[in-house]
Amino acid sequence: MKRDYYEVLGVSKSASGDEIKKAYRKVAMQYHPDRNPGDKAAEEKFKEAAEAYEVLSDETKKAQYDRFGHAGLGNRGGFGGGGMNMDDIFSHFGDVFGDDIFGSFFGGSSRSRSGGRSRGVRGSNLRVKIRLNYEEIANGATKTIKVKKYVSCNTCNGSGAKDRGGVQTCATCGGTGQVRKVQNTFLGQMQTVTTCSTCNGEGTTITNKCTSCKGEGRVYGEETVNIEIPAGVQEGMQLSMSGKGNMGERGGAPGDLIILIEEEAHPELKRDGLNVIYDLHISFVEAVFGVQVEVPTIEGKSRYRLKIPAGTQSGKIFRLKGKGFPAVNSYEKGDQLIHVNVWVPQNVSSEEKAMLEKMQDSPNFKPQPGKGDKSFFERVKEMFG
Ligand SMILES: [Zn+2]
Ligand SMILES: [Zn+2]
Repeated sequence: MKRDYYEVLGVSKSASGDEIKKAYRKVAMQYHPDRNPGDKAAEEKFKEAAEAYEVLSDETKKAQYDRFGHAGLGNRGGFGGGGMNMDDIFSHFGDVFGDDIFGSFFGGSSRSRSGGRSRGVRGSNLRVKIRLNYEEIANGATKTIKVKKYVSCNTCNGSGAKDRGGVQTCATCGGTGQVRKVQNTFLGQMQTVTTCSTCNGEGTTITNKCTSCKGEGRVYGEETVNIEIPAGVQEGMQLSMSGKGNMGERGGAPGDLIILIEEEAHPELKRDGLNVIYDLHISFVEAVFGVQVEVPTIEGKSRYRLKIPAGTQSGKIFRLKGKGFPAVNSYEKGDQLIHVNVWVPQNVSSEEKAMLEKMQDSPNFKPQPGKGDKSFFERVKEMFG
């Protein structure tokens, strides 16, 4: 039986992203393999915490987990269902620990934490905004955009060196990326491990730099990226494309491309969560006789034909079930709500005035609350009940 992820990290369901991150850091530090060498139980706890954090730190996965529990994640939870190893954990969540703490555990900077073999400096993340209209949000969309960013240098294949001989093992650290110092203190000898400052922990230095990129291994350029946006996204949501950000220096891993979703306002419809609201305006006469109307939908140009029955009161709401927005990664769908507004004439001719005066004493024109339609309060109760 898998434990509840919130219980694993010791946080409440309402915990913020920051609180979740802090809680994970605390648990991971407690069960860190360097603090518990050879302790299998601690290692399991360390992995369990990483799995919980992987899900709860991801907006989409967290939403799935909140709704359906472990079953909602299928094979996507925990790095493909428990197949998570220590390297995965460090490469994914290393930055959670912070370089200072990680450095003391692994004797190196973040880039050499997995044994000093990884080269270069990781590229930074890039952020782009994508504007979507209601139709694109309803159906999902593929957007092709050009991203200006650092790309790998073709001349040197990202190494930063002019030729093979241009890269040399760092003489200061002998290629480990780390420098050990032994200090005598009143407690005895203490060994400290720091990042080699000559090679910045990379283990190599470049003696003959590539001229195209001046030794950086990357140049400023452009890449065309296809972005698949799932149906149901919302203003302010962020999607992340791993490895599509800035290329790293000297063969370092690229950063991520973060996509910020923006909603384009619709000229006639308004979004309310999964529901979409339409304000329908009909004349007094249409309200009395009934009328056939065409209602805009989020499905683009297609309009929905709706019969407004005779005697419809102003404020009446018609609900088109399932005609709202889909929820991201779920079968749930909102409704379209059509809110009826009966237009009261503001100017009348003397002829119209005479007709209206004739009608005003008829019992049919006296308001009869509770008859024919529900009151405003009943409708509000119905909406929220
Ligand atoms: Zn180059
Ligand atoms: Zn070095």
